[in-house]
Order: sequence, then structure tokens, then C-alpha cells
Amino acid sequence: MGINREMYEQINLELRAKQVTLVAVSKTKPVADIEALYALGQRAFGENYVQELVDKQALLPADIDWHFIGHLQTNKVKYIAPFVHLIHGVDSFKLLKEIDKQAARHNRVINCLLQIHIASEETKFGMDENELKDAMAQLDSFPNVKVCGLMGMASFSDDESKVRGEFKILRDLLNESAISHQPSAILSMGMSGDYKIAIEEGSTMVRIGSLLFGARVYQ
Ligand SMILES: *Cc1c(COP(=O)(O)O)cnc(C)c1O
Repeated sequence: MGINREMYEQINLELRAKQVTLVAVSKTKPVADIEALYALGQRAFGENYVQELVDKQALLPADIDWHFIGHLQTNKVKYIAPFVHLIHGVDSFKLLKEIDKQAARHNRVINCLLQIHIASEETKFGMDENELKDAMAQLDSFPNVKVCGLMGMASFSDDESKVRGEFKILRDLLNESAISHQPSAILSMGMSGDYKIAIEEGSTMVRIGSLLFGARVYQ
């Protein structure tokens, strides 16, 4: 199958002009596809499954920034704690606590994004506004975690105004929180189908898979 080089170059130009970071989502894709994108200069890759990420990290260059973008189970934090660059999907207090503990064991501060539930679908993970407030109020107790921003997934919908409205909610939540005082606060929103809308609504980091690597086939 391979990567879509033209699409990569086009998206890259578009994002650079807007200073938006591209996370290339390589879940289910072979190491060879990651190497092909790496050869074009891509360094940030996103994975959803802990075992797959650990296996790929061992085989690929050390200067890749690995983003964990999936739902992270508490008992698996220890496997990615030594090397992960940014964990996007932190959606519970319990998980924050475990990331802090594992980061401390490796003398690291692990960068995290709090995942907020913005879609109308019930299947998506994430905190609501009150849980976000609670988590923010407790951050001082987690010295080995740095909360750098927020992450969210909009509804899978053709209704552009609905998707836009959900991204707007996330942006407003970031702006209202103390995280926005950080000069490089991150707003991780936008995927293959909706990244343009996400950028218009203030995204600083998009997570794009299928446009770069082709559709995924799950066994
Ligand atoms: C798979 C995935 C993506 C990438 O999805 P595409 O539609 O292939 O771009 C982005 N974010 C998360 C959280 C994902 O699970």
C-alpha cells in the first residue's frame, strides 16, 4: 500500500503556514510506512495500542516523538513511560496518578493532554467540564506530569456546523483554563475528515492517519 507522499507534502505545507503540528497516526500500519514518512522528515507519530507502540519504538529511530493517542489503561502506563513524548488521552484522575508514579520511576516529567468529551456520541472517552476543573485543581500533587493542553474528538458527522461547534467548545475550555497561560499550550483536535475545520477553530495539533497512510484494515 505505502504512504501518500503528495498528500503528506500538501498537508505539511498547509500546516506549516499555520504553525500547526502534524501527528502522523500510524496505528495498524507497518514499520516500513513509518520509515517512508520519516525519510520525508516526519518525526511525530501517533499510536493507539500500547503493545504495538512498544514494538515499533524498539525498531525505529530514537529521535521519533511518539504520541500515545488511544485510550490508555492504567496498568499499561509502565510500558510507555520510559519514552513516550505526549499522552493525548488522559481522561481520569486515576490515570494521571499512575502516569505521575511511572514518570517518577524514570526520572521524567511526562507531557499529557486532558481528553475532553465533546462529541454527542456516547462511545467517545473524555472528561466533562467539571472533571476538568477537578483535575486542574489537583495538578500540584502530580509533579511528574505536565498538562500541556486539551484533546478532543468531534462527532463523526457530515454536519459541519455540529463538528465546528464541538471544536469551539474545546477551544473555549482551553482558553478558560490556566493551561492557556503556557505560551505553547496545545489544542489537539482534528483528524483526516475534519482537520481543516479544527484548524479554523484554533487547533494547534492535528492527528492524521488515513489521509497519509491509506484506510486501515482491522483483522
Ligand atoms: C485513529 C485516530 C486518529 C486518526 O484518524 P484518521 O481518520 O485516520 O485520520 C486520530 N485521533 C485518534 C484519537 C485516533 O484514534
